[in-house]
Amino acid sequence: MTSEVKKFDTLLVANRGEIACRVMRTARAMGLRTVAVYSDADANARHVREADEAVRLGPAAARESYLKVEAVIEAARRTGAGAIHPGYGFLSENGPFVEALEKAGITFVGPPASAIAAMGDKSAAKERMSHAGVPLVPGYHGDDQDDALLKSEADKIGYPVLLKASAGGGGKGMRVVESAAGFQAALDGCRRESQAAFGDQRMLIEKYLTQPRHVEVQVFCDSHGNGVYLFERDCSVQRRHQKVLEEAPAPGMSAELRREMGEAAVRAAREIGYVGAGTVEFLLDADGSFFFMEMNTRLQVEHPVTEMITGQDLVEWQLRVAMGERLPLAQDELTITGHSFEARLYAEDPEQDFLPATGRLDRFALDLVGAGLDPNKVRLDSGVESGDVVSMHYDPMLAKLIVHGDDRHQALATLNRALAALDVQGVVTNRAFLQRLATHPAFKGCELDTRFIEKNEATLF
Ligand code: ADP
Repeated sequence: MTSEVKKFDTLLVANRGEIACRVMRTARAMGLRTVAVYSDADANARHVREADEAVRLGPAAARESYLKVEAVIEAARRTGAGAIHPGYGFLSENGPFVEALEKAGITFVGPPASAIAAMGDKSAAKERMSHAGVPLVPGYHGDDQDDALLKSEADKIGYPVLLKASAGGGGKGMRVVESAAGFQAALDGCRRESQAAFGDQRMLIEKYLTQPRHVEVQVFCDSHGNGVYLFERDCSVQRRHQKVLEEAPAPGMSAELRREMGEAAVRAAREIGYVGAGTVEFLLDADGSFFFMEMNTRLQVEHPVTEMITGQDLVEWQLRVAMGERLPLAQDELTITGHSFEARLYAEDPEQDFLPATGRLDRFALDLVGAGLDPNKVRLDSGVESGDVVSMHYDPMLAKLIVHGDDRHQALATLNRALAALDVQGVVTNRAFLQRLATHPAFKGCELDTRFIEKNEATLF
């Protein structure tokens, strides 16, 4: 149940890095007081420096700091924070955390715990989605887990199939099975992996799409029963299921397909009583058919490309919805202007199998004016500044470079100029890799699918 709506004047951001800074930027603009939380490794981090107040959570390890439910709630109590924004990762999709907040009378800037739970289990989520009339990849997601039954379901679906752990996430417990002969061994392997990672062996089987695009729809619902979609993002450029370069709108979408996918995404959200910002991920096949993959019940890393093409501030929408307000706009008031890209800058070494890099950032700057770039068209969302130390404790993403252009061609040209103008010294990053991606003829030509990087390996490395 959604707890009673309360106004709040102080927001605690239970996160770090670029997303903590980004959330606080909007909170400040809305006149809210901001509270940061930090681990010992982040005592002097940018998000701590920028907050009105900051509370130490514990040692560097995330499970002793950013993942510690009681410590975060205690920090909110001590600072009089009436609401908590979880960012992404950490506690953002943690049902028990949201329940604890509901009990403590603190507003969670996100969906009710019941909506998180509904999407937490892949098999159960598929059942709900099928009920709501959201298209699913042909497959099996039943309770009966007998070996022979699973095998006959796989035979029926037709190879290649994808085995997925029902309880899975982060690409773990997933295996492609090319033919009937390999099924049993793959099933055994997948079950072992899933048991080890999630303490659960249930599997679902899907038709394996060989060249799908990853297209996801941004949805928003308020607590008054209104729901809209803010169009889609194409996130097909992935390395080991991790997104690297995202764009909005997705190239080549017809108005009709856009509306169909958008409406399916809103149906998905309504089915589970969703409130706030959510993302419904689909696989889009070359023939224009699309299939529900999962719903992320939080703000996504790549939300800025949607902000760029709609002119909306999604964090402001989140905070307004959390305060009990209605959605700022109706579906027919939302439009797409131009095209946007986001490139994720990681502290990692593409020359060494993308090994995370650490060290002191001697320089981290983007001189837009010097590079002749329009500050309204380029945005750098970062959690670091010159002089900061990049540790090995957390996600190696340093910043996101987001650009806007009148069309895809212009936006891509701006992205390349901005990447070239970015001055990073002291820590190895994937910048040159991003530049090779953003200038790649196949990327320029919109030859997108989730194996883009794999397929173009010879010319990207
Ligand atoms: P996780 O929750 O572990 O991230 P997902 O179900 O979201 O797992 O799938 C992760 C990625 O695997 C997707 O982004 C897509 O690239 C690929 N994938 C998932 N399902 C299929 C499928 N049926 N066919 C082809 N690729 C798939």
